Amino acid sequence: MREFAFELAVCAALEAESDGLIARQLGTHARIVDVVEVVPGPDFETRTEITSGTIPGPAIESAVGVGRARRASEAIDAAPERAETIADRAIEVGFFEAERRNGRRYVRQTTRYPDWIGGLRAFENKPDLGRPGELERQLRTDVSLGLFDEVVLVTASYVTGAHLNRIPEAVGVRRFDTETGTVETVREPDRLATDEGGVAITEEQPARVDIEPVTAEEKARLRRRIAERAYGKGWRPETLPACEQARARGPPFAPEDALPYCAWKGRFVDPARECGPDCGGHSPAEPPEADPETIRDRRTPWIADPDGVVRRQAGLDRFGRE
Ligand code: SF4
Repeated sequence: MREFAFELAVCAALEAESDGLIARQLGTHARIVDVVEVVPGPDFETRTEITSGTIPGPAIESAVGVGRARRASEAIDAAPERAETIADRAIEVGFFEAERRNGRRYVRQTTRYPDWIGGLRAFENKPDLGRPGELERQLRTDVSLGLFDEVVLVTASYVTGAHLNRIPEAVGVRRFDTETGTVETVREPDRLATDEGGVAITEEQPARVDIEPVTAEEKARLRRRIAERAYGKGWRPETLPACEQARARGPPFAPEDALPYCAWKGRFVDPARECGPDCGGHSPAEPPEADPETIRDRRTPWIADPDGVVRRQAGLDRFGRE
């Protein structure tokens, strides 16, 4: 659980220095990345105006445009029922709007999908380099796949030459102090070739390595999906524990936050994994007053409740699904 508290502190520090967005625990190609930073692109502001949530990938990749309205089942690459569900979600977040003709629903984009992703950085947290686990393999995979422009290892450990020798050269290394929030750059990352095809290492055994080529086009699609998930998700746990022992606070260098701290355990806790009746200190109560969304809105360019870009908001109810 020390890793969880470390990760929250890393996110708080990254957010403070970033002009983009930070998110944690995002599924990518074949693995979950600890922390992702989305660097803003030219139309970042336009993206913030559409929705605070994630725009579904298949809706962005579909043939639904801003011009002629189309049937979702014909324009979205999915089985008809699923295509309609994707369209529902795209309408809900304000990226599609619907109109009805002859009793059938047609959809179009409310706005062109903006060019808002300036870059992606991945951070792999390993507070204790003495317990590396799968670290080397994960980092080798990240470098050979080249999904992120930069990959950085963040640790609390003193980094020796022997450690550096085991980490792929392209991976940057930072040493992070969770008390002060200070970062020492041990090694800068190289820029990876994100616009070329890459190679995913799907399995590695002593005598055998399974690989899978990933095209540049597929990588572009994955990068957009990662950025969208990061936009919608962020890094703060959504809810605080419904427990008397729970407090909302931040790490020592940024105490005014809304992260789940447990007075009984004397540390930050992961509510989803640690809290509930099975915990020895659990005592049911209202969760502490806290508003992670407002904090995110205040500290980042993300907008919690944008006006949206739907052109014909009034009467949308009439255009429900058949
Ligand atoms: S459930 Fe347990 S870990 Fe969670 S806040 Fe309460 S005492 Fe702490």
